[in-house]
Amino acid sequence: MTEPYPYEAPVSAQLFDRAGQVTPGGVNSPVRAFRAVGGTPRFMASGSGAWLTDVDGRRYVDLVASWGPMILGHAHPEVVDAVTAAARRGFTFGTPTSGEVDLAEEIVGRVAPVERVRLVNSGTEAVLSAVRLARGYTGRPLVVKFAGCYHGHVDALLASAGSGVATLGLPDTPGVTTGAAADTIVVPYNDVAAVEQVFAERGDQIACLITEASPGNMGVVPPLDGFNGHLRRITAAHGALLVVDEVMTGFRVSRSGWYGLDPVDADLFTFGKVMGGGMPAAAFGGRADVMDQLAPSGPVYQAGTLAGNPVAVAAGLTTLRLCTDEVYARCDEVAATLRGAASAALFGAGVPHRVQQAGSMFSVFFVPDERQVRDYDDARSQDVAAHSAFFHAMLARGVYLPPSAFEAWFVSAALDDDAVDHVLAALPAAAEAAAAALGGRAPSPQSYDAQELQP
Ligand SMILES: *Cc1c(COP(=O)(O)O)cnc(C)c1O
Repeated sequence: MTEPYPYEAPVSAQLFDRAGQVTPGGVNSPVRAFRAVGGTPRFMASGSGAWLTDVDGRRYVDLVASWGPMILGHAHPEVVDAVTAAARRGFTFGTPTSGEVDLAEEIVGRVAPVERVRLVNSGTEAVLSAVRLARGYTGRPLVVKFAGCYHGHVDALLASAGSGVATLGLPDTPGVTTGAAADTIVVPYNDVAAVEQVFAERGDQIACLITEASPGNMGVVPPLDGFNGHLRRITAAHGALLVVDEVMTGFRVSRSGWYGLDPVDADLFTFGKVMGGGMPAAAFGGRADVMDQLAPSGPVYQAGTLAGNPVAVAAGLTTLRLCTDEVYARCDEVAATLRGAASAALFGAGVPHRVQQAGSMFSVFFVPDERQVRDYDDARSQDVAAHSAFFHAMLARGVYLPPSAFEAWFVSAALDDDAVDHVLAALPAAAEAAAAALGGRAPSPQSYDAQELQP
């Protein structure tokens, strides 16, 4: 690529204009709208392997991977074949099908504490079902969550939510009743003392504590060493359930998700993204005695017309089966290369920042010093203008990054050396753009090593 793409993208702009007439904000999920970075969201026409092509005919190396699912890259031929074959057999029957059993066995076989799973259509649905089940099982009302964690757009969990709520800087939860909000307790992430205190005060009323296995929705903010273990200990001591949300990390950071790197036996887990292979499929699962409280074996109701949809299950099952050790090794290798190169470029341009990782997920925080970003307040101390400048400079050079400073970068195993080189070539100019955005403020040089976090 010789010349950067222009800032304007006429065909996308035209579509966005039409979309705005018929869809709120012109998008079906808020962060897609580029509000945080400005400019025209790119309407994608197709994807193949590591690359996306937009409606203006521009190509990008994709470091969003549809926010995580596309770990094998786009339109992987074997996944396409499986989906096509499933579609030819019929889209949905409203009956059990064999693929659902295979997919459930695949998940149960990978995450040891998961003895039963139920399939649903989205991560949001998985989480709201798990929370209802925790309340039904314990007979208690309260839910504890962490500031900056995102668990889908579940009423009770939108307070201090990450992801789009953080990206857009939205006020807490209009549309959520005071009753629903009152049943939610929000504590700072990575703060064991705060969790202890909440449980000391109201432990006998708490149905569950929910946490992202390793948060990726305020940027990547991994748990401090042993943090998830503390959550296990505290919840167990008070008879509350521990719900670990692996919708983002599940089957992405290892074949067993975050559990494979940091094996803490939660009572319930939620999954989505990779396990659907790019189709709408998600799941929640856990201890048999808890899961068996679900209808029809128990009294807690939960259902779905399209749950376990055969076409979605074909995509998910085939994707999981293709996620070999080599796939995870390639993702780790590419992520390490990109992390190091991004940090080196920013360092070279004198841009203060910090890169944090959780397995192959990582993100760049444009924070003023190199202290570890440990919670939502730390994450929000970053310079979003520097992020926007960096983002647009990368976009113009054919690299599609998350259009938000509060989202992880996602690699795929389809990133071959050519795609990686393409990203590396774009980084120095983007780092200069970020430096320019920081303007008069004196940037202090940062060290870019010693940032590898656990595990
Ligand atoms: C994406 C995500 C969700 C929500 O999943 P949807 O499929 O978007 O509803 C829930 N929890 C976490 C941790 C996520 O990253």
